Amino acid sequence: MNRTKAYSAASSTSPLTLDAIQRRTPTERDVQIEILFCGICHSDLHTVRNEWSSIMPTVYPCVPGHEIVGRVTRIGTKVTRFKTGDLVGVGCLVDSDHTCPNCKDGLEQLCPNQTLTFNSPDKHLGGVTYGGYSERIVVDEHFVLRVPVNLNLPGVAPLLCAGITTYSPMRRWGDIKGKKVGVVGLGGLGHMGVKFARAFGAKVVVFTTSPDKKEDALRLGAHEVVISRNGDEMQKHAGSFDFILDTVAADHDINAYINLLGRDGNITLVGAPEKPLAVSAFALLFGRRSLSGSIIGGIPETQEMLDFCGEHNITADVEVIPIQKVNEAYERMVKSDVKYRFSIDMASLKSEYNQQSKQ
Ligand SMILES: [Zn+2]
Ligand SMILES: [Zn+2]
Repeated sequence: MNRTKAYSAASSTSPLTLDAIQRRTPTERDVQIEILFCGICHSDLHTVRNEWSSIMPTVYPCVPGHEIVGRVTRIGTKVTRFKTGDLVGVGCLVDSDHTCPNCKDGLEQLCPNQTLTFNSPDKHLGGVTYGGYSERIVVDEHFVLRVPVNLNLPGVAPLLCAGITTYSPMRRWGDIKGKKVGVVGLGGLGHMGVKFARAFGAKVVVFTTSPDKKEDALRLGAHEVVISRNGDEMQKHAGSFDFILDTVAADHDINAYINLLGRDGNITLVGAPEKPLAVSAFALLFGRRSLSGSIIGGIPETQEMLDFCGEHNITADVEVIPIQKVNEAYERMVKSDVKYRFSIDMASLKSEYNQQSKQ
């Protein structure tokens, strides 16, 4: 086992602070990764604060982080796909049963026996898994992704969760080239949705409640921006969309968007509002429209997404922070005060340790 520096929370009301955790010695199929950057996802905050206690209570200490980019420093004897020095990524999953129908189809995100990157029972060491707010991580090679070398690394980290979450439903819906695609909400997820929809060749419309986001939406690739509080502006688009990606995690009127879909149009939810949404059956019946949900993506599709990003030079827009600012970043994320994702520079964790050990 290896002692590894990490930032952890000791309880739902504690800040994240420097800690030491254990990582396993790589088994024959494991890859050991030195973490360079880790994105901050809303799931990190929800888990640290035990806000999802009804579905997955948090076990403390909690080390979050599932948008990991790093370099391979050690490989097990049977690892075939990676070598020391490779640039790699790890997303929300570090293991699954490999045998269920979903795993067989490369849809590990739907496996009933998956192991999440943090706060999931750890099959190797017992206790729970620890995420990317740490110096290094050891992962089964099946769940390690290859990162194109031409991309800006801090901006690659969020692709592992926010990126695949928005890429997967658009890909699944079909070829959106030339189609009219809406993206609801312009945050960490929404800004990636805009970039992908544009790169796929769609006509992209962003829906936002904040008029001051208009300029940025256009810069990110939107062709048009609609202020969703403006009923007249919304009405102009009635029945005209092929596909809408809804990234909003707060309570909102879903029917207002269903009504914008054309025949056989689909709206896919990737945000998770706490309360159930009220859906009008009539809005779905007329127009044969559908409402779906989607969560991250499988390993093959996540690799496809990263390769696509390499070809099209797509990364997330990030604000790079040292890990010492992580608690502050959480407060700002709650207020949506970030464009559009925080990415932690893990060199800051190393230097904190070195300073401490000198004392
Ligand atoms: Zn996430
Ligand atoms: Zn499975």
